[in-house]
Amino acid sequence: MSIHWADVIAEKLEKSGPHTIATGITPSGPVHIGNMREVMTAEAVFRALKDRGVDVRLIYVADTFDRLRRLYPFLPESFKEHIGKPLSEIPCPTGCCGSYADHFLNPFLESMERLGIKPEVYRADVLYKQGKFVEAIKTALCRRDDIARILKEVSGREVPAGWSPFQVICTSCGRTNTSRVTGYDPLNETVSYECDCGSRGVVSMRGGGKLVWRVDWPARWPIFRVTIEPFGKDHATAGGSYDTGKRISEEIYGYPAPYPIVYEWIHLKGVGAMHSSTGVAVTIQEMLDVVPPEVLRYLIIRNKPEKHIEFEPGMGLLNLVDEYDQRKGDDRALQLSTLRASGPFEIPFRHMVTAVQIARGDEAQLFKALQRSGYDISRREEILGRAHNVEKWLERYAPDYVKFQVHETLPAAVNNLTPEERQALGILADHLDNKTAAEIHDQVYAVAKECNLDSKKFFQAIYLAFLGDRQGPKAGWFLASLDREFVKERLREAANRKI
Ligand SMILES: [Zn+2]
Ligand SMILES: [Zn+2]
Repeated sequence: MSIHWADVIAEKLEKSGPHTIATGITPSGPVHIGNMREVMTAEAVFRALKDRGVDVRLIYVADTFDRLRRLYPFLPESFKEHIGKPLSEIPCPTGCCGSYADHFLNPFLESMERLGIKPEVYRADVLYKQGKFVEAIKTALCRRDDIARILKEVSGREVPAGWSPFQVICTSCGRTNTSRVTGYDPLNETVSYECDCGSRGVVSMRGGGKLVWRVDWPARWPIFRVTIEPFGKDHATAGGSYDTGKRISEEIYGYPAPYPIVYEWIHLKGVGAMHSSTGVAVTIQEMLDVVPPEVLRYLIIRNKPEKHIEFEPGMGLLNLVDEYDQRKGDDRALQLSTLRASGPFEIPFRHMVTAVQIARGDEAQLFKALQRSGYDISRREEILGRAHNVEKWLERYAPDYVKFQVHETLPAAVNNLTPEERQALGILADHLDNKTAAEIHDQVYAVAKECNLDSKKFFQAIYLAFLGDRQGPKAGWFLASLDREFVKERLREAANRKI
């Protein structure tokens, strides 16, 4: 059996500990599951190192001091005036919390908790205001030319005249993209500037501005003694910010760059790569409405970071939950994804889909339906959590063919079936074991042929037995999405109906 990717990394790095694994996400928009890959990747390696007895920390630096780059589609027009200001200094877009940064950071922190990820959390604006970056800022300003040379050598781009590794927040207009550094005073720890808005002045190195991204990133490595860091492939391109960061870290800050773990994007099937800036995203909250947290962990942890994940929130999601619950995947990936000691969830998600649609929002009915099928209903809270997941899934992602109103008992309309049709339903019940949706579909045709029935009539008989109606979703897929035992029982019941 192959070793899990997180263990491969842990094995490679265990001797060079203690370790600090850093993650960092800019809360400029709704945090989506693509972003979640960063913290999840870090967490898997964190667990793998811990399992080997290595002293390891996991940190998350929220880039709250980054500036708003443009008017994202989810922002009101009035936010145009905030472009260029640090996210921590912009009001909340809906007025519900302290700042723009908090508005997107808080739900993300909550989601991380639900996903069992517990990093030490730092906010970049607080770190800057506390003066944690002062020495790094002085060094960067003093060695501005060396940094400019590294940037040119590695990225091939010459920095513009007047470029500075430090961006001042203009005290008048609040922007960092319109100001220019005109000098600095390392003794008083201040930077002087002028701005397009006409303002000029002096700011403190403690919160008066920040290092530009390509310097900010390596500057934090020695501050936190970072030794391992996952980052998206956009930072990993040749001449990209990891390449420049590595040289800046080593040559300017005298600190070895962390071990890089490059991760690929998560694509939403049929839509494309998720980016919060384009609105093509499923937020973590939306995802956790639909997917149990340990399954969301599993989605990410089972894949090597360098492998892109095609996420299909329709039937793909259903299959994923089953794979997790039924322990069909890689053992170590399952173990690294597990959150509870209570063991696997026994009720198949497909059966939850049936039970929830039978119960139609009635809790007591739900438990009754589950019990009737022979399931243990003692883990009530987990069952209700899963039922909530299923309800939301049906609402948002489920394909039409899984949506139905299955009759709780055999519909009376079955009385109208011919004895041949009823007999055929019984034969179908005997041929359902270990069949996929497509195979069941073929089986329906095969049984119809065997019994000399018109296949269209036979499909109608099936729908009548379950839905009390002559039409329904594509039969093979419909039957496959129901609990198999339930389907067999219902077909036999219809077959044995005495009229
Ligand atoms: Zn808010
Ligand atoms: Zn200004």
